[in-house]
Amino acid sequence: MKNIIDVKIKPQYTNEYQNRYPLIQKEIFNDADILKEEGAIINLLTSNNKFIGRGYYGRQNKGYGWVLTYDKNEEINTAFFIKKIKEAISNREYFYEQGKQNITTAFRVVNGEGDGLGGITIDYFDGYYMITWYSLGIYTFKDMIVEALKSSTEYKGIYEKKRFDTKGQYVENESDFVCGTEAPKPLIVKENDVNFAVYLDDGAMTGIFLDQKEVRKTIRDKYSKGKTVLNAFSYTGAFSVYAALGGAVKTTSVDLAKRSLAKTSEQFAVNDIDPNSQEIIVDDVFNYFKYAVKKQYKFDMVVLDPPSFARSKKMTFSVSKDYVKLLKEVIQITNKNGIIVASTNSANFGMMKFRQFIEQAFKELRGRYDILETFSLPKDFRVCNEFKEGDYLKVVFIKKR
Ligand code: SAH
Repeated sequence: MKNIIDVKIKPQYTNEYQNRYPLIQKEIFNDADILKEEGAIINLLTSNNKFIGRGYYGRQNKGYGWVLTYDKNEEINTAFFIKKIKEAISNREYFYEQGKQNITTAFRVVNGEGDGLGGITIDYFDGYYMITWYSLGIYTFKDMIVEALKSSTEYKGIYEKKRFDTKGQYVENESDFVCGTEAPKPLIVKENDVNFAVYLDDGAMTGIFLDQKEVRKTIRDKYSKGKTVLNAFSYTGAFSVYAALGGAVKTTSVDLAKRSLAKTSEQFAVNDIDPNSQEIIVDDVFNYFKYAVKKQYKFDMVVLDPPSFARSKKMTFSVSKDYVKLLKEVIQITNKNGIIVASTNSANFGMMKFRQFIEQAFKELRGRYDILETFSLPKDFRVCNEFKEGDYLKVVFIKKR
């Protein structure tokens, strides 16, 4: 049985939580020390003991847990999770249909608080499901949630990823496989008719970031034909593959991680593109930019999709601190009338601020530009109105004049 704790929250927060703000934050408690056990159920109460909502305690970078229901009589049990997961699945009818037609077989099914289940995401990969746990607290509900998923849909197999520390350490060697049949290694999934080799049982990441699907499609269908393309922070080269399939004359992918060379070659190969016809460079992007500026290289399109934070041997990079600097280098190696695809998944600032970074970079170089289109999260990454900051993705297509 789960521990249930009744907590009165500070009066100044009552309104916000009655209006269904889902993230449980430390500041709302008079004494946050009463929260000890990850996964404990919390009833949030007004100072007059009126019920506001029920959630769980689970420490995440974001906060102290999530509210799951506003119905006093609703218990957090397997039936609750079945209801939520079935709702989420029925909201993805379009994507399951795309799956049946073998156009797109990889998409998000449960997007945390966007689907009323803060702290987990569930992704679909051609019949296999991947549950990602963002706190030990939500992980204590594992049996219920796995059971709920099993009884909500057909599946070939279920996998999991833990994106939280256990006593300060990641549990690395543990298998990600939960139940059902194991997926092939790699599993080939489709996205807009493009093949992707994904590894469901391979540590931190699967090989593809599903939130960029519309951006990739746009790059392929509208911007690549006849172009030279630089993909900076390329990871497995997803943007490069789309550009090549869209008719780019050449792609150059740059990533610091040694594994990116083999991974990117593989993504080209599974799409019948000879990896040797493309350039794949293992290097620090900052180094490469210096080199490219010195050599006066110019590209028709540059995709810039850095991680929010990165630590290399020489320095730490943070998007809020360094994006302008990065953009200025990119602008210098982009041809006149060329396209810069500026992307960030940092939840620390919104689109306004991101557009200010772009403005500042061009201003400092006395350059001019047009914004052609912008993207945020795709429809399978549902966001709720009460937690708009859940829509972390910002992508801007810029034309350099
Ligand atoms: N654009 C990719 C996702 C990028 S993930 C995609 O669409 O799939 C961030 C990547 O940045 C990681 O692969 C990481 O290895 C790489 N990276 C981090 N710091 C870097 C640096 N200084 N130079 C080059 N690559 C870096």
